[in-house]
Amino acid sequence: MDFKDRVAVVTGGASGIGAASARCFAARGAKVAVADLNGDAAGEVAAGFGGLAVACDVGSREQIDDLVARVERELGPIGIFFHNAGIASGSDPLATDLDVWQRQWDVNLMAHLHATRAVLPGMLERGEGYLIHTASMAGILTSHGNLPYAVTKHAVVGFAEWMSVTYHERGIRTSLLAPLGVRTPMLGDTGSSFARNAAGPIREPEEVAEMVAEAVEAERFLILTDEIAQTWMSYKTSDLER
Ligand code: NAD
Repeated sequence: MDFKDRVAVVTGGASGIGAASARCFAARGAKVAVADLNGDAAGEVAAGFGGLAVACDVGSREQIDDLVARVERELGPIGIFFHNAGIASGSDPLATDLDVWQRQWDVNLMAHLHATRAVLPGMLERGEGYLIHTASMAGILTSHGNLPYAVTKHAVVGFAEWMSVTYHERGIRTSLLAPLGVRTPMLGDTGSSFARNAAGPIREPEEVAEMVAEAVEAERFLILTDEIAQTWMSYKTSDLER
């Protein structure tokens, strides 16, 4: 899958991994829509490469439907959807309010479902499409950090694996990004700075964006940012790689 002239949507595209990926996809020739809760910041990122900025709360199904409709109207059929927006809040089951849990589910997991429901029919009709899902190493190994984050990221791993296996033969490609400690505003909240100690230097968002773009070009499912993660995951890779 190449980026040239394809329409790509990046959620959480105003900061960190999303912003770096939006720039990276645009540099490879994609027509990129930057979708973010922070519409002003999305506008600044999109202005850097002449992309489309859309203020969107991915925790709302209606706003996701509006996002997809607007991007397809203004840029054309969506070829690549990067489900990247995420939040990390709450802590253990007793100390975390239910509305915090609910918000975490809505933004970190349900957004992947709603956006997939919005873009998949068109992709299936065209016989091609690319879905990229950002989970976390906290979605693969849970030993620290906060519980709502880890649980929703585990669910994203399952979602992406299921999509990859089920829709591959109909032309839909899927990648799962599981970062571990990337220098973004979120780093302190995820607990990944702790795990990072075991893995080596903190990654820059631009490095991760390059890894994502290369995985899309190679149509590779797993995007693991570190050797330690690759070691942990190697037993699964043979099943999931196609
Ligand atoms: P970031 O805080 O730099 O960027 C997150 C962006 O998402 C922000 O621009 C924010 O406004 C946006 N956002 C938050 N809620 C939103 C909503 N409801 N609707 C639309 N946009 C929303 O964080 P980042 O580190 O670049 O995180 C990107 C993804 O990577 C997240 O899913 C995160 O869980 C994952 N991740 C990050 C790390 C890390 O170390 N930084 C590690 C593992 C996983």
